[in-house]
Amino acid sequence: MSHVVLDRITKRFAGHNALNGVSVSVAQGEMLALLGPSGCGKTTLLRCIAGLTEFDSGTLTIGGADMSGVPVRKRPIGMVFQSYALFPNLTVRGNIGFPLTVRKSPKAEIEARVDEMLALVGLEHLGERLPNQLSGGQQQRVALARALSPGPEVLLLDEPLSALDAQVRTRLRDEVRRIQHQVGITTVFVTHDQAEALAISDRVAVMNAGDIEQCGPPAEIYTAPSTRFAAGFVGNRNTLELSAADGRVTAGGAFDVAAPSDRVLCMFRPEDVELSRDGAGAPGVVDVTVFLGAITRVYVHSQVNGHQAVLFADLSSRAAADLAPGDQVRLRVADEHVQVFPA
Ligand code: ATP
Repeated sequence: MSHVVLDRITKRFAGHNALNGVSVSVAQGEMLALLGPSGCGKTTLLRCIAGLTEFDSGTLTIGGADMSGVPVRKRPIGMVFQSYALFPNLTVRGNIGFPLTVRKSPKAEIEARVDEMLALVGLEHLGERLPNQLSGGQQQRVALARALSPGPEVLLLDEPLSALDAQVRTRLRDEVRRIQHQVGITTVFVTHDQAEALAISDRVAVMNAGDIEQCGPPAEIYTAPSTRFAAGFVGNRNTLELSAADGRVTAGGAFDVAAPSDRVLCMFRPEDVELSRDGAGAPGVVDVTVFLGAITRVYVHSQVNGHQAVLFADLSSRAAADLAPGDQVRLRVADEHVQVFPA
């Protein structure tokens, strides 16, 4: 059942549209990631849900209730932002209990809830510390615990991990996912980091210039992008601009696919590129190999329909071990792994 429903939301700022009539629903207990480049409208959409930004037209319902005119503090939401925004003069316990103190909940109830939240985020031993005595990752755990302590229906997370270093960020990302599952809370998570969006969410909404271009499960977004923008934004891809003949495009023997127009962009992932010493495929010469641990990225100079192109293939490092610059290879991509868009 849809829990949060946005229907044709538009927002205009000083002459330009930040949101062009965005419609999306989030199911009960689902984690939806809003993914897109800087300025595409992710934060504006999240702020509309929170009530921090008033939208110009469209409707928003949470749990079936229309949110128009409902102030931020009356909405059933919890929020965590990029900056930790903890109260510096309150301890960890004080911060987590703050929303309940404001509500004038009984003291014993607050203490029990704070204990529960500290256990949830794994900070039982740090309750008496002040925020400036915590690491960035610990501060974001406190911010998450504080957002969850009043038991909101919906959690809104705006780039909550982006101020953290890479290792802490990955660990906390997985932790946020665990906590979200455990609590079963409907969540909207804003990020410009595609790996984060794919890893953390049930569905990803790929945003571009105020629109949602595609919304679907991470595997679908990754393997079957429905627009050129989604294909280019999520994951690494080779891109070839080619001419079609008789409704098909052949790439020097690398693949043979139906073409929707005379000029097309063909996009395919490096892990879908097969290299062989002989046999079928477009001829190429290995340019350079880059060892990345489990995989090796192999750059190949290839002639595709009369044009020189540098393509890259991600092979298991074992498979790539006997390839060296200057080697002659054949390059192939299974037709079903090629996405074709009008150029
Ligand atoms: P980022 O990842 O950089 O935070 P974003 O996708 O969250 O980007 P938004 O912050 O939603 O993008 O901004 C969408 C557009 O609206 C941008 O062009 C931005 O400049 C504009 N915008 C956002 N807030 C305001 C405002 N208060 N006044 C005027 N323009 C705004």
